Order: sequence, then C-alpha cells, then structure tokens
Amino acid sequence: MLLNLILVLLLLQQSVRHDPHSYSNPQQIRIEHTDLNLKVDFDKKQLHGHVTHKLKTVEGQSPTELVLDTRRLNIERCEVSTDGSNFTTAKHQLDKEDHILGSALRIALPQNVQSVRIYYHTSPEASGLQWLNPNQTADKKHPFLFSQSQAIHARSWIPTQDTPGVRFTYDAFIDVPAPLQPVMSADRHETKMLGRYRFNLEQPIPAYLLALAVGDIHFQPIGKRTGIWAEPSVVAKAAKEFEDMELMLEAVESMYGPYRWGRYDVLILPPSFPFGGMENPRMTFATPTVLAGDKSLVSLIAHEMAHSWSGNLVTNATWSDFWLNEGFTVYLERRILEKVYGKERAEMEAQIGRNILEKSLKTMKPKEQLLYIDLKGIDPDDNVTDVPYEKGFLFLLHLEKLAGRERFDAFLKGWFASHAFQSVTTPIFVAYLKKELLDKDAALANAFPLEEWINKPGLPKDIPTVVSPALGKAAGFAKGWSGNAVLAQDLPVKKWSTQEWLYFLRSLPESLPASKLKELDDAHHLTQSGNNEILAQWLEMAIRANYEPAYPRMETFLISIGRRLYVKPLYEALLKTPSGKERAKAIYAKARPGYHSITSGTIDEMMK
Ligand SMILES: [Zn+2]
Repeated sequence: MLLNLILVLLLLQQSVRHDPHSYSNPQQIRIEHTDLNLKVDFDKKQLHGHVTHKLKTVEGQSPTELVLDTRRLNIERCEVSTDGSNFTTAKHQLDKEDHILGSALRIALPQNVQSVRIYYHTSPEASGLQWLNPNQTADKKHPFLFSQSQAIHARSWIPTQDTPGVRFTYDAFIDVPAPLQPVMSADRHETKMLGRYRFNLEQPIPAYLLALAVGDIHFQPIGKRTGIWAEPSVVAKAAKEFEDMELMLEAVESMYGPYRWGRYDVLILPPSFPFGGMENPRMTFATPTVLAGDKSLVSLIAHEMAHSWSGNLVTNATWSDFWLNEGFTVYLERRILEKVYGKERAEMEAQIGRNILEKSLKTMKPKEQLLYIDLKGIDPDDNVTDVPYEKGFLFLLHLEKLAGRERFDAFLKGWFASHAFQSVTTPIFVAYLKKELLDKDAALANAFPLEEWINKPGLPKDIPTVVSPALGKAAGFAKGWSGNAVLAQDLPVKKWSTQEWLYFLRSLPESLPASKLKELDDAHHLTQSGNNEILAQWLEMAIRANYEPAYPRMETFLISIGRRLYVKPLYEALLKTPSGKERAKAIYAKARPGYHSITSGTIDEMMK
C-alpha cells in the first residue's frame, strides 16, 4: 500500500514536471476555467476584448505571481479578484520575447486570489491566427479567420498557461460582423444580439485545443451527432464525402468506450490551411484537399476523430510525449478503417506508413528517431516527423500481436477510461503498461523490447510487418510498366484505389525520363487528376523528370493550396536544379501571400 502510494506520488510529480515550452507556473497555481470575451475585427486583423481565468492554488503553495504565456499580445490592463466578482487593477510585466516561446506575462497576485482578468488585443501577425481575404476562400465573397493553436500558438491569441499539462473548461462570447458565423471547439448558442454568439465547453482541455473560426459557413447534418460546416459551395460535397462519419464514431465506441464530447462536427477550411486536419474537440478543422469525390482520403477524418480518445481525452503532458497522442491515434485510425472499410484498406495504409517511416529514418539523426524525445530549445512544430506517428503505431501493433487483439483492446480501453481528461507522460504510460500487461505475463514481457522501443533510435528487430497483397500487385505493375513489359493503357487502373495508385507511382524508378511520364499521362491524365494526394505525388515526379506539360498545373497547385505536406516536397524537388530554383522563386513570390505562417515559415527556410 505504502509502496503504491509512493509510486502514485512519483507519477504525480512526473505528470506536473516542468514543460520546457511554457513559462507558466502550474506547479503553484493553475487555471481551472476560462471566460473569453472577444470581438473579431477583420479590418484591423485583430481580436480584442478580455479573458478571465478562474484559478486554483496548488495545496501548500502561496504564489505571489501568475505567469502566463503570450506571443505578440498587446496587454492593456490586468485585474485580480479575491471573490470572483470584484476586480482591482494588478501590476503586470511582460518579459523580453524569446523567438520560440514568446513573452512571459507576470501578474502580481494578492493572497487568496480567485481570478485574473486581462484586457488585450492580438497583433495582425499572430502566429495562431490566419486572416484570409475573400479571394483566398472557396466562394471569394467574404473574409475568413481560423485559428491553429497546436503546438504553442494559443498564446498568440489568448494569454494562458499554454502547456498540454494544464486543462480547463471554457465559456466564450464572440462578436463577429454579420452575416459571418463563428464556430469554436465548444457547444454553440445564438444570442439575442446580432453577430454575438455564446460558446461553452464542459470538458477540461489544454490550451492547444482552443479553436475559433469565422466565415460565411453553413451547416449540414450527417448523423444524429455529426455534421459538416463549410462555405456554401463546399458543404454538400463534403457532407457526401464524409457521410460515414456517424458509422466511424460508432466503430471507435464499440472498441474503446463512449465518445465523451457530445457532438462531432467537421469544419472544412479554405485551401491555405497548413495541415491535413486539426483535432479541435467537437469540431475537427480539415483541409479541403481530402475531398476526392470517392471517400479515398477519409483516413484523415478517421485520424482526427480518433484523437477524441487519444490526444483530447488522454493528452500528452509535454510535446516530448507527442507519440502518446499521435502513435495511438494512427493505431486507432487504422482500426476504424478496418472496421468501416475492411481489412485490405487498413493493410494498405499500414504498409504505406511503414515505407514512409523507413525512408525518413534513413535521413534522420539518431536522437530524432526516439519516441520519447528531448525537445528543449526546439520549436515543437519542427518535431512533426514520421516517428511519433508511424513508429508509435508500430509500438502498439507489436503489443497487439504479442498480447492478442482481444486482450490488447481491453488494455487500451482501460487506459482511456482510467486516464480520461488527464495529461500523461511517457513514464506514466510505461508504468501503466507494466502494471496492466507486462507484469502479469512474463512471456509477453520477455518478448516485448520495451526499453528499446522507448529509448533507442530506429526500429527493434523482428517486429511485425503488415503486408498488403493489393499493394504488392501495384508494385509488380510498376516494375512491368517501367521495364516496358506492360503498356500504360493495359494497367488495371479502373480497379485501383488511391492507395494503389500512390504505391504504383512510388514504386517506379526515381530516374524515369519525361518520355515515360508522357506515356502514363496520355493514357491516364494524371496532370489533370482531381485527387490531390495522387496529383502531389505525380507533380513531384514531373519535376524530377523535367516533364514540361505538368508545370502549369504545378504552378496553379502551389498557388492555390497551402497544405505543407504537399507543397514542401514540390519546392524541395524544384530547388535541386538551377532552372528549377528560378521557377521555385517565381512561383513562391506569387504563392507566399496566400500561405499560412506555418507553411511559409518552412518554405522561407528552404529558400534561404
Ligand atoms: Zn494527429
């Protein structure tokens, strides 16, 4: 009993250990609830208003200041309250800015403080907000605003304890110019005032899951708990593409326990969104590039939905534990795909993931290949590699194969239930794994190289491989066609899924000449493909082969789409030759104003 108590205390200490990406002092005092009151000003590209944080002092502590994270915020006034309703002005200080972390805001606290209130406005270049003018949207009529708070950008629009180790509930009043509509990662209510909306979230979340979007957006329901928000011209198409959302939600619930967030809706953003998707609770933000017309790219929705368990419900306590969010989510994503679309689809995704991981491991330093990674002094946005995702997935797959699926699913379900609405570290997970699985089964503990998985680079030997027979066939056709044994028009592409197409293209030799690309293009019109995943892969090959007919499409693609996953490899390929470099610079000059700062930040570095 005593030993258990010591263990629990040790783990608690671990769970609140200092997050190197936050200045805040949650070891002394924590935000419990946040009240936002913000006005959206598109002309000034600014949010202004105030935020009130309800605080809880950690037992045994008597803090004299509250330290909050901020980045480029204009702090107008700070107030404190000892009864939660009467506020008086408090001294505050904004520290010098650090280029990764921003500036610490220090507010002097009275004894028995209950709440602080901060009056402020954001700056137009807030890293967590993107302000789009009408011609950057799908319908080109109204401006659009969206937030992207992960990893450490919430601090650029709300002064807060911006660490995934602190969770709070929130309410908000948001004022927007009519006829625009706001959505948040929260329950939404209209008010009697034109342009004023109220939001509330009863479940505690970390700051990186705070989200806001404003635009001419409309809603179309899918199931009883699910629906789509999007611009008028996009909403019906998206609702059709994602019509299986309710089924997917039921699939996860049947395996890993109830969905704890009420509704699950998806907001389709304009094409400049830098990521595939962002798992904001109740409201996934998604790129329009997954609207392929044939549901072939819905794995993105499966992924973001899975985060409702792994990430949003049980959250990495620091960005060093990122694999606890992403590896678990990739595992859940493939289990959803298997349940809704069959084993073959899940196998294809897993094999493609493994290939991508092995390719990137070859170019990464050993210390970047660890699941549990030291990120001190590193911007967490720069740690978005395949390791937390695909190596994390393989960790869980290995355990599943050794323990058996039934036992492993019960284990995972137990993990989510026992750590719901908590922020967890890698040591906490390891302790749970030992207690619930490994300590009960010596053979399993022996067969599973835990230490190597967590703390060593690369992949352990003899881990399970997923083999997709369908992809094997696609690779066979790649060999046959590139070796002139099969004609382009004889490829069985009518039966191919997106995954088989991708695998076929990636299995072709790197040095394919432009004449061969022309042959493929003439037969199958890849340059005109409406599937962005296939198109991005094809354009990269076209650049490598200097296949001129694809260049106009490449230019339009790079100018109209800002998803980093697609545009980065294309610039990379262009920059390899002097003439390509010229072209890259000319295109980037036109494309950059439309990119999100996360994407332009990456491309700026490459262009140096
Ligand atoms: Zn994810």
